[in-house]
Amino acid sequence: MTAQLIDGKTIAQQVREEVAADVARRLASGKARPGLATVLVGDRVDSATYVASKQNACAELGMESFHNQLPGDTSQEEVEALVRNLNADPKVNGILVQLPLPSHLDEERVLQLINIEKDVDGFSPLNIGRLAQKGREPLFVPCTPFGCIYLLEKAGVTIEGANAVVLGRSNIVGMPAALLLIGKNATVTVCHSRTRDLPAVVRQADILIAAIGKMEFVRGDWIKPGAAVIDVGINDKPDPTKKRGYRLVGDVNFEEAVEVAGHITPVPGGVGPMTIAMLMKNTLRAAEIQAP
Ligand code: NDP
Repeated sequence: MTAQLIDGKTIAQQVREEVAADVARRLASGKARPGLATVLVGDRVDSATYVASKQNACAELGMESFHNQLPGDTSQEEVEALVRNLNADPKVNGILVQLPLPSHLDEERVLQLINIEKDVDGFSPLNIGRLAQKGREPLFVPCTPFGCIYLLEKAGVTIEGANAVVLGRSNIVGMPAALLLIGKNATVTVCHSRTRDLPAVVRQADILIAAIGKMEFVRGDWIKPGAAVIDVGINDKPDPTKKRGYRLVGDVNFEEAVEVAGHITPVPGGVGPMTIAMLMKNTLRAAEIQAP
């Protein structure tokens, strides 16, 4: 069997176009332009690149972005004061604090401060808590797991009743992905570094979400024939044929898995483009909540 590719690039572009059209409709009806504030503490190159792509996405979709760059030695009090100001600023609908923060800062306290109505990353304990409770809805779902579920649904994969295995239990990907799948009535197993006999667990999966950050870790013979495989991993694999000396690969051995799975996301061009698309969707939602 050769799996059907789930084309995240095209699906993300569709989401962006829908958001841009909704933003244009809001503006035409006299409402304010949705605004996203980004906060970057320090000078990590990867974080700066992510923040720049979020700002570019805002510009492309007709939203405002307000960037707040703070030096790496900014104090906890200063970061908290900035978040409080952004909470109070009516032009700011969404607040995104780029993680990780430098190690001297208390990430949990900063995330806790973000007004739940502006928590477009969905990382505040209130939003995550709501995601974990039956009958409660979070205002915002964390963007990468939101993108994973969106891709499954767009591909027509049945989630209800499926055996889903999530590899990884991080706060930003694995755990919220598992909670979302439970909310959609899948039977979910969450695996981590202490899981015994991972291949045997993965072989039970009708749906596999791999988010462990280990290059091509999941082998083709771990995949149940016909399974839907969502590969979140982004890893640099040395490749002398490439100008930059490496290429991006996922946590799943794509060449092997594509022969067994029913659906699979490529890396790059799968989950990656969805993250910013869902952030834009969340920012529009924030504007709609604050100024319906
Ligand atoms: P973390 O490092 O925060 O978490 C990794 C998880 O994988 C942990 O729960 C860890 O277990 C588990 N794990 C590590 N090694 C193994 C193993 N050998 N067997 C089973 N489980 C293992 O990573 P993230 O969740 O932040 O990211 C995961 C991947 O997704 C990375 O490649 C990252 O680059 C990518 N990513 C992609 C995004 C996108 O937009 N496409 C966005 C965010 C991340 P334990 O808890 O026991 O330590």
